[in-house]
Amino acid sequence: MNHENACRLEASKVVHIKQITIGSSNKVFICGPCAVESEEQIEQTAAFLSHLGIPIMRGGAFKPRTSPYSFQGLGETGLDLLSQAARRHGLLVVSEIMDPREMDFFVERVDILQIGARNMQNTVLLREAGCTGKPVLLKRSPMATVEELLLAAEYLLVEGNQQIVLCERGIRTFEHLTRNTLDLTCVALVKRMCPLPIVVDLSHALGRVDIMIPMAKAALACGSDGLMLEVHPNPIAALSDGHQSLSFQEFSDLLSALQPLLRLMETLTPVDDQKGAKKAW
Ligand code: PEP
Ligand code: MN
Repeated sequence: MNHENACRLEASKVVHIKQITIGSSNKVFICGPCAVESEEQIEQTAAFLSHLGIPIMRGGAFKPRTSPYSFQGLGETGLDLLSQAARRHGLLVVSEIMDPREMDFFVERVDILQIGARNMQNTVLLREAGCTGKPVLLKRSPMATVEELLLAAEYLLVEGNQQIVLCERGIRTFEHLTRNTLDLTCVALVKRMCPLPIVVDLSHALGRVDIMIPMAKAALACGSDGLMLEVHPNPIAALSDGHQSLSFQEFSDLLSALQPLLRLMETLTPVDDQKGAKKAW
């Protein structure tokens, strides 16, 4: 693979979704619960995020759980609840699609299709998502190399879809103190190898909340275009991934802790790059 520009096809540096841009000088925050659990839970989350100016809400309706006995998500009902809450609060919405047969249903309800780590190399799903032209958040599999991630993105590009945001979410190593090992070299390599924007999902990478602030700083400092974070009104009662979800207070504290770095990065951005870039949170 040519390391200078790994993407064979033309790929866009910036993804535009309605009023938001991902990949410009501003950093984007994508936050929300692991899973949509109830109307009350997702409404509370949407109200909280929009109050803070967070532009994109996440929430799984179809959950790829390791065990078939774990909560699998609310399915189509969950996606409806998510998109309705997002619309009420002026948020964009991203949710994971696992089955190409759900494509039309998703396209009508989400702003970004998430292709999760387990489906990164599901070429049927990739091609179908590519054909829709909808923005896609493509997560790296815990077992995939950076080159394999870029080749998965190429499946979207060959179908003519350049609206791609990559996502580093940790890879599997022998380390067991974190859920996965956050591989920030992926961010730096992607930035060197292709134009596509990339964000870091700290929640699934770390599997814990107590080291999120330093790792968030590290992810932003090494060039991540944004962060994905699981945020839940009551993490202890969450039906999935509560242990790695930030409470509203913890998320507010994290945002405050990141302010000095975000401000510094803004001042370091070339003026030309700032033009026309709307603040994403
Ligand atoms: C998720 O973001 O809800 C998720 C399941 O993450 P991943 O695909 O990275 O495991
Ligand atoms: Mn999760």
